[in-house]
Amino acid sequence: MTQAHRPSRALTSVADLVAEGLAAPADAPALEAVGEAFRIRLSPAMRAAVDASGDPVARQFVPDARELTIRPEELADPIGDDTHLAAPGLTHRYPDRVILAVTKACEVYCRFCFRRETVGETGPLSEPDLAAALAYIARTPAIREVILTGGDPLSLSPRRIEAILTRLAAIPTVETVRIHSRVPVVAPDRIDAAMTKALAAHPCLWLVLHTNHAQELTDAARAALARLTAAGIPLLSQTVLLKGINDSAETLANLFRALIRAKVKPYYLHHCDLAPGTSHFRTTIVEGQAIMAALRGRISGTCIPAYVLDIPGGFGKVPLTSDYLTEITPGHYRVRDPQGRLHDYADPA
Ligand SMILES: *Cc1c(COP(=O)(O)O)cnc(C)c1O
Ligand code: SF4
Repeated sequence: MTQAHRPSRALTSVADLVAEGLAAPADAPALEAVGEAFRIRLSPAMRAAVDASGDPVARQFVPDARELTIRPEELADPIGDDTHLAAPGLTHRYPDRVILAVTKACEVYCRFCFRRETVGETGPLSEPDLAAALAYIARTPAIREVILTGGDPLSLSPRRIEAILTRLAAIPTVETVRIHSRVPVVAPDRIDAAMTKALAAHPCLWLVLHTNHAQELTDAARAALARLTAAGIPLLSQTVLLKGINDSAETLANLFRALIRAKVKPYYLHHCDLAPGTSHFRTTIVEGQAIMAALRGRISGTCIPAYVLDIPGGFGKVPLTSDYLTEITPGHYRVRDPQGRLHDYADPA
């Protein structure tokens, strides 16, 4: 991968994008209006990963005038996190796990983000809010897993991450911690020795990488992933299905194979949430199912994530499996194979 051009600071305005040749001067006034509604940020590493204006990396970060089209079904809180708020920053939707938004800042601002209305508003969760969240977790022993999210947790300093993980490690009922992050890909230099040392502060930490296209997996990103696996951290990935960016079986097969080569297990492919101004990114569910069916017959099972919908309103995630199984009579099924042929299958009598 050529890394011809790498600015030393993040691009955070339409003027920056125009200066870099990523937006046309004539589009600037419309894009300024988008930027006022939804923050702009493109990290130096992702600028370097853009090969041409309008390519699959650029489209994820460069604003588009279509973002000002807010459709009636789109929601400020698309997955209903606020309906299950147990404390500020803490969402408790499923009995055994919580998500804790430890910061609202990110290294990039993605145009399709389901938290786009709040990302970047403030920085780290305040100490009183963090203390309240940890107290809730400690007095709720059903919570076995704490998922750190944001914003992007790895945009915090190693010192702060180590402190949070150390406090979580002191709660005996918390068995595992998961961090959802885009940092190893969008700001790989942050995954340095201090960061891997900080991540060791919890004995059972899993990291879920957010990545949407193989073009994001630069040499620097793959080196950051290698540092994480060398530190013994198991890696999963989540991808958002995005029209015009990765909505083909071939593009996703390339991404998922590249992830497996980097020792990252594809975990979720998210149907694009109903965030405001994102309809130009959204495929239909039937299109997503057709892509998954094409992948099933074509690539290693290790490469295949679950295609999921976060049901709007806070009702949770469900797999959008295309229908492989039909129950004909109780215990008797018709199973469809990847080529579409039908087979009978029966449970033991
Ligand atoms: C997505 C999510 C989780 C994690 O779900 P998994 O299926 O375990 O990955 C937990 N809590 C909330 C509120 C979520 O949105
Ligand atoms: S929370 Fe994740 S998807 Fe949203 S802007 Fe930040 S990095 Fe992008």
